[in-house]
Amino acid sequence: MKKWMLPALCLLLTGCAASSVQTADRTAQTEAVQTTTQTEAIETTTQTEAVQTTTQTEPVQTTTQTEPDSIQDMLERALPDVRTELLPEQIVQKGRVQGTDFTLTVDLQKWAQLTTEPQIVRLCELFWECYPRMYARFHDLSDPPAAVTLAIENEGYEIAATDGLTIHLHDRWLYDNPGDYDCITHELAHVIQAGWDGEFLEYSSYIERFADCCRYEYAMQNGIYNDAVWTLQTVLDEPTREDSVRFLVWLDACFSDADTDILRRYFRVCHDMQYPADRWDAAWQEIFSQTALEGKTVGEVWALYQASDFAYLSAEAEEGGVSDLLAQYPVRQRVRGPE
Ligand SMILES: [Zn+2]
Repeated sequence: MKKWMLPALCLLLTGCAASSVQTADRTAQTEAVQTTTQTEAIETTTQTEAVQTTTQTEPVQTTTQTEPDSIQDMLERALPDVRTELLPEQIVQKGRVQGTDFTLTVDLQKWAQLTTEPQIVRLCELFWECYPRMYARFHDLSDPPAAVTLAIENEGYEIAATDGLTIHLHDRWLYDNPGDYDCITHELAHVIQAGWDGEFLEYSSYIERFADCCRYEYAMQNGIYNDAVWTLQTVLDEPTREDSVRFLVWLDACFSDADTDILRRYFRVCHDMQYPADRWDAAWQEIFSQTALEGKTVGEVWALYQASDFAYLSAEAEEGGVSDLLAQYPVRQRVRGPE
């Protein structure tokens, strides 16, 4: 799949509600699933009601599958420092990262097994890799939850949506787009935002621009999946700051330093509701203060961006490769910190 073909994701429940999968399709999918995945170790109680009439009455662990790995085994191997508990139609994981106790609940009540168990394990890994890092950077500004639910559902929004503490991922999304794990990095950034109000942003689109900026900076495993399926558009394709994700990444990569975190400034201004849209000239001044951009207007700063090579370098890479942009600007190194 071409990376730029993936639609912009999210839907914060008030956002771009991509229509749900056609009912007829969904019926067909469900049937397909039932015939293809029954034999796998998934009988973990997550079957839909229609399926339950067949055999299982017991939750997972009691089966004597010959499958090599149960999902619990896979999770414990992938995340040895996290406690995993399988409950009926739920996976609950608890762990402490840098002094904070986090909980991830994977809600499988509406899972129809289109998302595979190994993909669910990957999603759990993504949470534990990405969320605590974003949390560490921004939590004091927005007080986001340390307990997050990821509901994998064969209904509702076509891709993913975030509603407070709960991220909804359509069961079909990874089935159709198997490399697009970092759509969840984007959704986790919405959880971190904890209720930005579009009335107090220069453009309400900044809610999505910031989530995509985080998607890029905090992408799972240094972008091994992300950069092959999704890309930062260049200034040619996102020609205004209203549209541009890359402008935020550029500000952070080129103007944050050990003393001043310009993206935290941006986050604080967006979260604190001090500046209605028509007062954003002042908001930008606050964001730029004590950086090399201090005193410049946002128009002047945009012109600097537009004249930079950063605005044009390709951010695309094959899976595991390094994009031209990252080869020249190791954007993720600073935000990821030591491994
Ligand atoms: Zn979004």
